[in-house]
Amino acid sequence: MTMTFDELGLAPGIRRAITDLGFEKPTPVQMRVIPFLMTGDRDLVALAQTGTGKTAAYGLPILSRTDPANRRTQTLVLCPTRELCVQITRDLLSFATYTKGVSIQPVYGGAPIDAQMRALERGAHIIVATPGRMLDMIRRGRAQLAHVQHVVLDEADEMLKMGFQEDLEAILKTVPKGVRTLLFSATMPRQVATLAGRYMNTPEEITVGERNAGSDMVSHEYYIVHARDRYAALKRIIDVYPTIYGLVFCRTRLETHDVSTRLMEDGYNADALHGDLSQAQRDRVMGSFRTRHLQLLVATDVAARGLDVSDLTHVINFSLPVDAAQYTHRSGRTGRAGKPGISVVIVNMREEHKIGVLERVVKTRFEQKRVPSGREVCAAQLHALLERVKQVDVDEAAILPYLAQMGALLAELPATEVLKRFVSLEFNRFLAYYKDAADLNATRLAGTERSPRGQPRERKPGQMTGFIVNLGVRNGLTPGDLIGLINRASRGPIFDIGRIQIDHDRSYFEASGADPRILTAGSLPSYKGRPMQIRAFESERTAPPPKRHGAHGGKPPMR
Ligand code: ADP
Ligand code: MG
Repeated sequence: MTMTFDELGLAPGIRRAITDLGFEKPTPVQMRVIPFLMTGDRDLVALAQTGTGKTAAYGLPILSRTDPANRRTQTLVLCPTRELCVQITRDLLSFATYTKGVSIQPVYGGAPIDAQMRALERGAHIIVATPGRMLDMIRRGRAQLAHVQHVVLDEADEMLKMGFQEDLEAILKTVPKGVRTLLFSATMPRQVATLAGRYMNTPEEITVGERNAGSDMVSHEYYIVHARDRYAALKRIIDVYPTIYGLVFCRTRLETHDVSTRLMEDGYNADALHGDLSQAQRDRVMGSFRTRHLQLLVATDVAARGLDVSDLTHVINFSLPVDAAQYTHRSGRTGRAGKPGISVVIVNMREEHKIGVLERVVKTRFEQKRVPSGREVCAAQLHALLERVKQVDVDEAAILPYLAQMGALLAELPATEVLKRFVSLEFNRFLAYYKDAADLNATRLAGTERSPRGQPRERKPGQMTGFIVNLGVRNGLTPGDLIGLINRASRGPIFDIGRIQIDHDRSYFEASGADPRILTAGSLPSYKGRPMQIRAFESERTAPPPKRHGAHGGKPPMR
């Protein structure tokens, strides 16, 4: 069933405002919630994932039903954080652009209470508040809720998770009996159900999509790297998406600080959001991220809570959250309102198994991706640069006086030379940085290596020889170590190394490109004091069967 906004019975001014905002058709939760709220007075419990447009789902009908001539507070919206409070107020104000005389006031902690009290004294048809500060206002006698008709509990699950239960109950006890209570939540934990049971009157339940599931518009990708290459891999991923607009999640403040500082030093348009910032600093950082003056925001989970920025292209999990359920909150910040988004996870080999856990939480498969090579990054950057050249607006009149000067340059150099030079102005730093860039993928498997164009590299059949080595996981051997040992044993990187498999006390690898006797003859290096021994297989047939779950072998099959 699809529907248009025209069929929902909204007031004409509201209808016009959402057209200005570019909302073309209602989201699924809006299709069901708006008609329900435009009529009747039953309570509502609405469950929908983040980014499904819940603010407009309650905001539009409530605004349509607000009477500006009545100076009293008619609606109270409660939400978990200051940032959400500001965001919701901003959204409601934009919906009310053409609705004359409606006053909407935010009330939240962490800011002087006096100004907020004065604002409430002037009258507010709609108060958008965090529970703690709201209760404070009520106790000081600064909020008159005797005529409230709607109470909205937005992100009820988050409010309860943040310990606002008592404050919420105290507020709900002061509102009039006949009030219409609307509860919005992404999930329905027991605490939320209990609150609904206690303070709501046989509510209608509207659930959109699967409960607790992530957004369909998000695709999930992961990269396996050595722990020490995590930051370098992050840079490659960012560089291969030149138009990225994303959130980078870290686990701790320290890591947030570290990653953001390095990104800034490396010339990225990035900043950090973490608990050590003053409120003014937070506001500044969020403001510049929201207006896209910042391309990347590095944040902890707590600091990012309530930050509502739409249209993120990527969420990057620089490190995984402690709690797998938190992952959906992270990835839910992209793929909003019908636009596709990518959630990227960077893991080391010890964390690889956690991908399976996340797949079960999100109920989606994660795709393993290779960390792009230097060539791939440069190709992507060049593509973006040329796209910008194609798209740029040329101000013909303004540029006219300088055409002669440009013509002189063209007379001196051929056009292709000029183009090469202009591109080099922007592009040289990537070329230089990625000139000798290493492969950052921690698992290097035969047949998965790709040329820069993304085509699997051709393997000449029959040329690989299998080798068995007397070292394994027990000795602390990693694929990288093994490659180093092979190169030392052959006194130079003359071998093309294929499949590697490291078992508990032995490992196997395939190599081609030289006489295997070079490897097995002569003196071999030692690894952690243990002399290395290599034996070649006679034929491919005696090679060990490919194991899917090798300790450091390939990627395990997807569940
Ligand atoms: P939720 O509260 O469900 O997480 P929001 O209400 O914050 O989601 O909406 C997420 C984003 O989607 C916002 O940027 C909002 O402006 C946008 N949005 C909401 N409804 C529509 C719509 N019908 N068409 C296009 N964009 C929409
Ligand atoms: Mg919301």
